Amino acid sequence: MVIDLRSDTVTKPTRGMLEAMFSAKVGDDVFNEDPTVIALEEKMAKMFGAEAGLFCSSGTMANQIAIKIHTKPGDEIICDSLSHIYNYEGGGAALNSGVSVKLMNGNLGRFSACDVENAINPDDVHYPVTKMVAIENTCNKGGGSIWDWKEIEKISLLCKEKNFRFHLDGARIFNALEKLPKGKNKVASSFGKIFSSVSVCLSKGLGAPVGSVLLGDKNFIYQARRVRKVFGGGMRQAGYLAAAGIYALDNNIERLKEDHYRAKQLEKKIKNLPFVKSVFPVGTNIVIFELTETYKAEDFISNLFKKNIKVIMMGPQKVRMVTHLDFTDEMLESVLEVLGEMQERIKI
Ligand SMILES: *Cc1c(COP(=O)(O)O)cnc(C)c1O
Repeated sequence: MVIDLRSDTVTKPTRGMLEAMFSAKVGDDVFNEDPTVIALEEKMAKMFGAEAGLFCSSGTMANQIAIKIHTKPGDEIICDSLSHIYNYEGGGAALNSGVSVKLMNGNLGRFSACDVENAINPDDVHYPVTKMVAIENTCNKGGGSIWDWKEIEKISLLCKEKNFRFHLDGARIFNALEKLPKGKNKVASSFGKIFSSVSVCLSKGLGAPVGSVLLGDKNFIYQARRVRKVFGGGMRQAGYLAAAGIYALDNNIERLKEDHYRAKQLEKKIKNLPFVKSVFPVGTNIVIFELTETYKAEDFISNLFKKNIKVIMMGPQKVRMVTHLDFTDEMLESVLEVLGEMQERIKI
């Protein structure tokens, strides 16, 4: 049995999901004729209080479309140094939209309205024109860190005042929402007022094989449809994939708390390992930790691999584990056991 903790993207569709895909009604979505794609877009838009949605083949595509629409070449966007948009999209902001990026050094990926204020360029020919702010919730490279809703509201107000666009990379927004205090879940339905655009992944914790939905107002989504086509992302009978997304929304949101619980169990164990220097605070389903110099991260990873456990590097001496739909309690037990054995061996 291989235990794959490299990412929450490694999940495979369950039988129920496959059946939903198999029986989907489809049409040509480039002609706007796929009822299942339309149903997914409407469902997501409603959940987040947005006017409209657009089904995209990946989160990267959804983010890149948003940047393309919100900016013009020579503009600048503000985002954190840990952000996916900056680190993991192949330099797409520069390649696709010709914009520069001003990086914030936030707390595990989270910066403040005050930081944004200080990062705005003056109206002076020397500087690129600040046009957009992007945040990531939860922040992957920040160990699945969750943003404070009040700070998000402050940044939103600032963006409105300055006429900046405000984008949420919500690849794992459902993980953040799961951790909100009870009764606060209506927060999701106000996203349309807070953000100019939102991208949400279906292929992470929700367990769909493919896809993200980009949300915004009608005019934004109208433009996004055009940009998606230009980027080569106009899909035809995409309803088979959208059906997996709808199934995921109906069945796999509630259970995210199990992933969070298992990540917490991993954190507890990892914290006490003698060769671990520090662990990022675990808020959701991501565990990132740094090893001491005595144990090279490459060796640690290959030793786990010998025990059929897959994890990945996340920077120098940093390792990441991500819990997900296909990571069971039984698998958790074996990982804890293997880590325990390593601990024993180091003691001797
Ligand atoms: C996974 C992810 C994306 C999108 O990734 P794709 O692999 O392109 O779907 C965007 N932002 C964050 C924070 C992510 O974790």
